[in-house]
Amino acid sequence: MSYESDMLKKLVMPTKIEVEHALLKTLFKHNGVIKEFSSGQEIVDEIANEFSLNDDQRVAFLETIYRKENRIKKSILWHRLLFRAADSLAKEKLVSRPTSTFALTSRREWMLTEDGYNKALDLLNIPTAQKLLLPTKSYEVEKIIKKLNENLRPQNYDPFDKSKKTLITTKEYSIRARGFRQAVIKAYDYKCAFCGLKLQSPNSLLWEVEAAHIVPHCFKGKDDIWNGIAFCHLHHWAFDVGWFTLQDDFKITISEKANLMSANYGKFFDRDLLRPLAGNKIFLPEKEESSPHPNSLLWHRKNRFYH
Ligand SMILES: [Zn+2]
Repeated sequence: MSYESDMLKKLVMPTKIEVEHALLKTLFKHNGVIKEFSSGQEIVDEIANEFSLNDDQRVAFLETIYRKENRIKKSILWHRLLFRAADSLAKEKLVSRPTSTFALTSRREWMLTEDGYNKALDLLNIPTAQKLLLPTKSYEVEKIIKKLNENLRPQNYDPFDKSKKTLITTKEYSIRARGFRQAVIKAYDYKCAFCGLKLQSPNSLLWEVEAAHIVPHCFKGKDDIWNGIAFCHLHHWAFDVGWFTLQDDFKITISEKANLMSANYGKFFDRDLLRPLAGNKIFLPEKEESSPHPNSLLWHRKNRFYH
């Protein structure tokens, strides 16, 4: 038995597979990213706490003797176990290495990949159907978000993606849909563009706001920022069914049908949630180029708005 495995056994350290699973679960808890272990003692301690490691287990170190250079290298056994587990997850393509993540987000972090995300959900017994709403980052989705934010706003924008398949539930579709959602709601600072509502779930995980397609998905509307707006659930629905539309100057036009609606409709207590906002300009993204494209809005006025 080698010196290291001897130590692992003597100290009753967790096995590699146990550490790998703990890492995936911790990544999920931290929205898909954790710092490099060398710069993130809190994470190192957090995972050690998961295993209720005692002081001896946390600080035990290994000595590697380099005879030629006549020196001894000491490394903490627990750090080594963590790094090995992360390295093996990276080899299995379940996480991206800090160097790869850095190229994407400028932060040296381990990040879940789509496969790693699925595995974490599986370990935690969370249905994969919840993925669309969870804010958890994945390498593939971050890549889409980066692209959506970096693309230059086209003058002659075509809001249709003619090759789009509307009835697919593939992995590729899930990644694109989540990239669209996260890029849009972030651009609008998680607020409804119509009423300004900004609301999180009590555990701070989920945002109430939704990313609406202006030309809808079922009409092959593109999944990019210029064909998207962030709306609360209510105003997303009202926009989709044509209760209101937007002019090119982003001012709200309300359907004339609203005047025929019973006085007690569309209200939250005394407050009318639709009609008084006619003529108001919506809340726009801070970055002007992320605003809805007139070509998408034109389609909505012609095809969705109920005059
Ligand atoms: Zn709203």
